Amino acid sequence: MAVATREYLLFIGGEATEPASGDLSDLTEPATGEPLARAALAGEQDVDRAVEAARSALAGDWGKTPGTERARLLHALADAIAANRKELAELEARNVGKAISSVKAELHQAVENFRYYGSAIATIGGRANPIGGSLLFYSLKEPVGVAGQIVPWNYPLMMATWKLAPALAAGCSVVLKPDPQTPLTAIRLAELATEVGFPAGALNVVPGDGPTTGAYLVRHPGVDKVAFTGSTRTGGEIMRLASDPVKRVTLELGGKSPNLLFADADLASAVPSSAWAIYYAAGQSCEARSRLLVESSIYDDVVSQMSDFAGKVKVGDPLDPETQMGSLISSTHREKVHGFVERGAGEGAEVVAGGAVPDGAGAFYPPTVVAAPNESEIAQEEVFGPVVTVIPFEDEKDAIRIANDVKYGLMATVWTGDPARGHRIAARIKSGTVGINMPYTAFPGIPFGGYKQSGFGRELALETLDLYLETKSIVVSTGARPINPFGL
Ligand code: NAD
Repeated sequence: MAVATREYLLFIGGEATEPASGDLSDLTEPATGEPLARAALAGEQDVDRAVEAARSALAGDWGKTPGTERARLLHALADAIAANRKELAELEARNVGKAISSVKAELHQAVENFRYYGSAIATIGGRANPIGGSLLFYSLKEPVGVAGQIVPWNYPLMMATWKLAPALAAGCSVVLKPDPQTPLTAIRLAELATEVGFPAGALNVVPGDGPTTGAYLVRHPGVDKVAFTGSTRTGGEIMRLASDPVKRVTLELGGKSPNLLFADADLASAVPSSAWAIYYAAGQSCEARSRLLVESSIYDDVVSQMSDFAGKVKVGDPLDPETQMGSLISSTHREKVHGFVERGAGEGAEVVAGGAVPDGAGAFYPPTVVAAPNESEIAQEEVFGPVVTVIPFEDEKDAIRIANDVKYGLMATVWTGDPARGHRIAARIKSGTVGINMPYTAFPGIPFGGYKQSGFGRELALETLDLYLETKSIVVSTGARPINPFGL
C-alpha cells in the first residue's frame, strides 16, 4: 500500500468514521517537507461518539468477552502487527521523521507488548481469605471501565501499544487520542484490531488537538480512567481536568535523565552507549540521558570522545536503513530546541559539537554536545532534542547530588567498573529506572515510570494491569446464627 495516497479517518465503533466537522489535516513528512497523507481531526462530537461506542462495547460483546478470548485477541493483534510491520515501519518513519532502523526496534516492542499482556491476562484474579470467626472474604477484579488514553508524537505506535495492551487485557474499552501530528499508525492499529476480531467499540481512535479535543476527553463523564503520556506541564493540567468528576489518572511525563560516568568505567562501551542514549530518536525521548555527568579526572577525554561520536552519527533520510538519526518532528520544534542552545551561551554553556541549524529541507538538527553548569536552563529543562549537557563531578557523593538535583526522575544510567558502586548509586538515585553499564531502558515486563515530576504509575509491567482494574471486596457471613449487631 502506498502510504502517501490514502486518507486516515477517525476509528469509532469498529469502522473508519468521518469527523463531524469534516476536518482533515494535510500531514507533511518532517524530514522532507513533502506531503504525506490527509488525516481526520476529531472534535467534541467525535469524542462523544467514541465514548458512547466504548461504553456500548463494555455493556455488550466486549464486556462479555472472557479473559481467555481477550488473550487470544491480543496475541492475534501481535501477529497482525508483525505481519504488517513493513507498512507500519515506513508509515511511522515518514510521519515522525525517525530513522527506520529505530522504528523497526519499536515495532518489535509493539508486538511484544501485546504478547506480554495477552499472556499476563492469566494473572488477573482476586483472592480469598477466611477473616476469623464466621467471615469469609474474597475479592474480584473488574475492569475500571472506559479508559481515555492520550499519547504524544515521539513514539506514536509504541506509546499507543504501551497503553492499549494492558487496558484491553484488563477488559477496559478505550478511546485513544494520538497527537494530531502523528495519528497514522494508531489508526492502522485500530483497523488491524478490528480485522483480527476485536468487537466494535473496544478500541476507538480520535486524533485531535490537545487543549480542546484532548481536554474534552479527559473531562468526559463517560470516561472512567485517564492515562496520559506527555509533558509535565500538560500532565499537571490533566490532573486538574480529571478532578471533576473525579477519575483515576496515571501520568508518564518528562525527563532530564542523568548518565553517570566514573573514571573506572569501560569507556569503549560507556561513550558510544552514552551517545546512543541521547541521540536515539534525535533526543525526542522521555528517557533520553541528556545530562552526562563525568568524573573530573576523565572529563576532558570524555567531552572530546563524545564530540567525535556526535560527528559520526549518521543523520539523514529516515528511510535509509543506514541512517541512525532522522529529523526532528517539525521546524517549530527545532526552533524550540535551538532556542535552548542559544540561551545557554548567556548562562555559561559552551557548544562543543553541533549546535547550528543546518541549511536545506527537513527539520534536521545535528547531534550536539554542550558543556554547561548544572544550574543552567539547558542542564535542568527538558530540551527534547539531540543535545547532551556535560557536567563534571568530583566523587561519588557529588555525582549523586548532581544526578538528583533536577525536578525529574525517570531514568538514570551508571557506568562504573565497580559493581558494588553501581548498586550503591542505583539505590540512591531518585528515578523510576536505573541502568548499570547498559543504556537500554524499556522492556515488556519491567516497570517503567517516574519519580518526582516525571509522573506516577508504572507501564509495561504486571503492576500496570491494576491501573485498569477495580478490586471489589466481598465479605460473607458463614455463621450458623443470623447476624444482629445491636442485639435488637
Ligand atoms: P504534550 O504534553 O504537549 O502532548 C502530549 C499529548 O497530550 C498530545 O496528544 C497532545 O495533543 C495532548 N494534549 C496537549 N494538551 C492537552 C490538554 N490540555 N488536555 C488533554 N490533552 C492534551 O507533549 P509532547 O510535546 O507531545 O510530547 C513530549 C513529552 O512527552 C515530553 O515531555 C516527553 O518526555 C513526554 N514523554 C513521556 C514518556 C514517558 O513514558 N514518561 C514517553 C514519551 C514522551
